[in-house]
Amino acid sequence: MKKMKNAIVLGGGGFIGGHLSKRLINEGYHVRIADLKNHEYFDHSEICHEFIKCDLTDPKAVELVISQECDEVYQLAADMGGAGYIFTGNNDANVMHGSAMINLNVAHECVKKKVKKVFYSSSACMYPDHNQLDADNPNCEESSAYPANPDSEYGWEKLFSERLFLAYNRNYNLEVRIARFHNIFGPQGTWSGGKEKAPAAMCRKAAETNSGGGIEVWGDGLQTRSFLYVSECVEAVLRLMDSQFTGPVNIGSEEMVTINQLAEMAIAISGKNINICNLGGQDFIDKYGFNCPTGVRGRNSDNRLYREKIGWEVSLPLKEGMIKTFTWINEQLAKKSK
Ligand code: NAD
Repeated sequence: MKKMKNAIVLGGGGFIGGHLSKRLINEGYHVRIADLKNHEYFDHSEICHEFIKCDLTDPKAVELVISQECDEVYQLAADMGGAGYIFTGNNDANVMHGSAMINLNVAHECVKKKVKKVFYSSSACMYPDHNQLDADNPNCEESSAYPANPDSEYGWEKLFSERLFLAYNRNYNLEVRIARFHNIFGPQGTWSGGKEKAPAAMCRKAAETNSGGGIEVWGDGLQTRSFLYVSECVEAVLRLMDSQFTGPVNIGSEEMVTINQLAEMAIAISGKNINICNLGGQDFIDKYGFNCPTGVRGRNSDNRLYREKIGWEVSLPLKEGMIKTFTWINEQLAKKSK
């Protein structure tokens, strides 16, 4: 009989980690999750065999979680959130300290325990600000990362940790796979409270607003992004893990839209007659007390390297992912109002 593979998902109580764990269970893995918190939307029996609630900034916790000769470790734990969390500057020290501590502990422990392979989730936020000033032509080719100039401390920490895992690969033969995620979205993710990302925020606002009303979009809404549906992201991660390519490589969608177009899509899905109200500059400061955190002007995934090295590509249109996300958020709102 084929031996069951062991996977440890760090940050499996979070959005992508929860979906990844569920997929690994379906693939027949034995899954152990470690996270600070329970998963808010998945029942633990759906996503893992063992759930260890712990703080991975503590080396003793990581020592306990990572077992000898585990087959695969997926490192997704990070102190993170949407633009309102990582671009205001208010959380920089915690974001850098928390995530760097986790990655330092994990890389060290994986070598000690002879883990066979480690996945690390980096982010497109590590790309240089100066290559993302033109909303229509951002450059996010993997090789454009240096000279480094991320626009947030979150991005700097990601870049540091990519290098950390690559150094462990060079010096200790730790087999690693590194992906740079570009805006992953979908159901069972944060959709309110300030840590939600643009697709969830737009879906929630459209679902909450009555016809004739307006939804707020931060900035002029002409900044561009691409968004990848979470099941496509999970598929891309597993294919990268199975490949011989270390990375870093982008995992994202190449369907670039403006944030206003994203809002229009959510409004169209809601079937209501809703206006977009762009809020930026002094008006934004007057309302929120800090500068409008819109991030870089343009960003799109460049999937050429992934296609070349892995031979597969993501294909789900943004609209289809947005319909699934809107439907789920609408259900959450209905549950809340009961
Ligand atoms: P998430 O916030 O939903 O999940 C991260 C999880 O890490 C959370 O459940 C959190 O509780 C856990 N965590 C944080 N600090 C911890 C600690 N000290 N000990 C134990 N657990 C801790 O985020 P996500 O969207 O699922 O992102 C997963 C990974 O992918 C993160 O590393 C993130 O930086 C990266 N990423 C995500 C996106 C995206 O669009 N979602 C884009 C780029 C990169």
